[in-house]
Amino acid sequence: MKKSKLLAAALAAVMTVSLGGSVYASPWGGGQDVSKPNSVIDVEENASDNPQGGSSSENRLVQGSEPVSIIKPSEKHEPITSTEAPVTEPRTETTLWFDSEKIVTSESKKKSPTDFVDSSKALYSYSEMCEDIKGLQEVYGDIIKVQAIGTTADRRKIYDIIIGDIGADKQMIVQASCHGREYMTSLLVMEQLEYALNNYDSVVYGGRTARECFKGIEVHIIPMLNPDGVSISQYGKSGIKNPVMRLNLSSIYKNNVKWRYTNLSETNYYRRWKANGKGVDINRNFDGRWKYVDEINGTSSQFYKGRQAESESETKALCDLTRSLSNPVTAVSYHATGSVIWWDYGQTGEFARRCESMARTVRSVTGYDFVPRDPDSAGGYCDWIIENGGGKTVPILIEIGKNQCPLGIAEYPDIWSRNKNVLFAAAVNS
Ligand SMILES: [Zn+2]
Repeated sequence: MKKSKLLAAALAAVMTVSLGGSVYASPWGGGQDVSKPNSVIDVEENASDNPQGGSSSENRLVQGSEPVSIIKPSEKHEPITSTEAPVTEPRTETTLWFDSEKIVTSESKKKSPTDFVDSSKALYSYSEMCEDIKGLQEVYGDIIKVQAIGTTADRRKIYDIIIGDIGADKQMIVQASCHGREYMTSLLVMEQLEYALNNYDSVVYGGRTARECFKGIEVHIIPMLNPDGVSISQYGKSGIKNPVMRLNLSSIYKNNVKWRYTNLSETNYYRRWKANGKGVDINRNFDGRWKYVDEINGTSSQFYKGRQAESESETKALCDLTRSLSNPVTAVSYHATGSVIWWDYGQTGEFARRCESMARTVRSVTGYDFVPRDPDSAGGYCDWIIENGGGKTVPILIEIGKNQCPLGIAEYPDIWSRNKNVLFAAAVNS
């Protein structure tokens, strides 16, 4: 949040209201009350998964991933000056009002545009996101809902911000920062959220206001699915609060050096972290062709699929949300490698036509190219949707950025201009 906006937020008169719950019948296998946070998940005493047998490496382009290799060609071109992660302690985290299943909303109906989300720097932290959510909630409390859909091993909340036609019989899901070092996607999605709220009754896309774009569709935004991984990429080991988990990170690094999975310094290893706080790669932990995901020796900064599908709280939170919705027609996943669009997972018939139509819409807005179908795609959120969604939900994965992650702020203006209308376009075409 920008400091100058704190006062404006504080001036808003507030009142506390209960977050209204609703129980959905789900085509995914059972409805649930999405207004209630999932039960708190305790930090495991031994967060380290034992190494499993078998190892493999790969160099092909993997959805939501970068090619695996001990030394990547692109790393030779990385500016040396930008390789050190900040090692200062993260700020004390904000306690949010909605932690207690309450939301705070503004009595003021005045909707002056806000500018909470600070896109002048690349390091967009979990704490900063929480402050921004709180600020937006204060100003726009009558048109947004916020709920926690899960808690990570290091006790961070996974937030879902609901906007649009709340209660509509169609839903769209937008999620970012599945991978830790791709935290620029959180900044992007939060700015998309703020832009939509600021222009709710102004024309934004195709002659429509944001309100008109979202007519008939409830939009769920999960701006940071993997906040523990983001914190590790941003602050190294000091980004993790739990001492057992911090010790475990050291073990993971030592093992990865021993297995020759990395030759980076420990500082740069954490900076390039993709997995969750326990060393499981969330986008290989979904129950979609999970058994085909390549095995590696054990927990790692990337590519370890976990002991079983949906073993991680982050994976379960997103699956539970998706399963809870009555008709999730579109699921947008933001990743950050390559400026491309993944959409072709071998869908057929009318479902394939719907998926391609959405992909063409997003391509026309962003200018990103399609990636050819990957027959080996497995373990990702899109794979899970294809395998379990019954052809109802159109998955699309958008990779922002051109350079190695974490992306520098110099890339952001182009990313923003390409993506500012994606939520509107996707909603209109859902
Ligand atoms: Zn990714």
